Amino acid sequence: MPEGIVTFWPPNAVVVSALILSPLRHWWLLILAGITAEFAADIGHFPLWQIAGFALVNAGEASLVAAILRWRYRDRGYQLFTVRVALTLGTVFLFIATPLAALGGAALYQAGDPDVAFWSFWRLWWFGDAIGLLIVTPALLVWFGEALPRGLFTSRRATELGLFSLLFLAGCGLIFFAPPEWPLWNKSPVLLLPLLVWAALRFGLHGATASVLILGFSAAAGTTSGLGPFFDGASQAESVIRVQDYLLTAVILALSLGTSFRQWSWAISDLQHERAKLEQRVTERTRELNQQKQEAEQQALTDALTGLNNRRAFFQYAHNIHDQARRYDRGYSVMILDIDNFKQVNDRFGHASGDIAIRHVAEAIRAISRAADVPGRIGGEEFAICLPATSLDEGAILADRLRLSICDLGVPLEGSTLHMTVSVGIAQYRPDDATFEEILKRADNALYMAKSQGRNRLVILGE
Ligand code: GH3
Ligand code: MG
Ligand code: MG
Repeated sequence: MPEGIVTFWPPNAVVVSALILSPLRHWWLLILAGITAEFAADIGHFPLWQIAGFALVNAGEASLVAAILRWRYRDRGYQLFTVRVALTLGTVFLFIATPLAALGGAALYQAGDPDVAFWSFWRLWWFGDAIGLLIVTPALLVWFGEALPRGLFTSRRATELGLFSLLFLAGCGLIFFAPPEWPLWNKSPVLLLPLLVWAALRFGLHGATASVLILGFSAAAGTTSGLGPFFDGASQAESVIRVQDYLLTAVILALSLGTSFRQWSWAISDLQHERAKLEQRVTERTRELNQQKQEAEQQALTDALTGLNNRRAFFQYAHNIHDQARRYDRGYSVMILDIDNFKQVNDRFGHASGDIAIRHVAEAIRAISRAADVPGRIGGEEFAICLPATSLDEGAILADRLRLSICDLGVPLEGSTLHMTVSVGIAQYRPDDATFEEILKRADNALYMAKSQGRNRLVILGE
């Protein structure tokens, strides 16, 4: 602009972004590059002392911002453009670095031209500088420091991006470059703000920062050319102030929405991730508990010494068999066997060896039982087998086979071999048996008879 007024000043943002993204040891080089650029741009327009002053003010501003940021993030360093970064940068840019630098800038101007109104100039420098930093720094940090959001160029999203770009560019053109004689409808720059919301929500911070950058440059270019809604024919300073207010609003909207939305999305995906992990842990734990429960149930039904059904389990299964027999009129048989003179085994070899002997008998019972049979240890050295769908004769054959196989057992104990005999009683279901216990009682009576008839024998209690 003729008076040397700019709408916003992007060069400082380039230096600030470079400082933020670079290690400390490269800072002097970047600051030197900034000062050189200042000289290159201003030479011929200002006297050397003034250029040196501007360069110093700008370099000081950039270093101050980068230093504050480095101090703020000294633990982890700057990583991603988050809400916290936006708040820190926004505050430092707008309320600390640029109003300070503007004091220096206005003073330098006034020193060159005493007619310059110090505070008006300070205000223009302040906002111009702040908006330059606010618009350009986030764009550079995001576009050069972060990966593009995933899925931005999938076909549906790309169509949407195309439509957005078309509307946004057309809107910027029609609004900021509208000649003064055009009607009023296209002089509402506020209509572009919803498009910024669209960009921030759908295309992430990449979309939001790029849009606000395009918005800033086209608003500045249009107004400087005497076009668009901000141009005030009377005073260019007035026009600039209006663009600055508008751009400040736009950039605050885009950055706050863009950063909040991205962080919200991160929080959601973290939450989903945590939930999935939790669900997996619950599933695993449930499986473990079910397994433990099954094992516990199994243990509660199993005899610890022999691994056969214990008394409780045996009775439970036997009651089922009895109920089935009654319902379907199917016979079944029950045998009871007791090791003969077992007290002597204990007396001779000790209780532990007695246990081994009991285990051998249990093994013989298991070997002879068929899949549907239910064997159990119902007393110390007393066993029972429930034989579903088995007649008394069939059961008797089985019982005698078992008795003989136990006779043949030789259990090696303390250097000698123990031979055992068993007495067996067997009985059969009768249709008038109301309970399992009635048949068991008959089988027990048969066992008693076997014992009293001399042991090592089978007694069958028929009809
Ligand atoms: P009978 O021929 O009349 O059956 O004589 P028995 O000596 O076997 O007498 P009874 O069946 O009445 O006694 C069983 C003995 O078995 C009593 C007890 O010392 C022993 N016994 C019971 N349970 C166990 C056990 O779990 N382990 C061992 N080692 N011995 C047991
Ligand atoms: Mg006995
Ligand atoms: Mg006994």
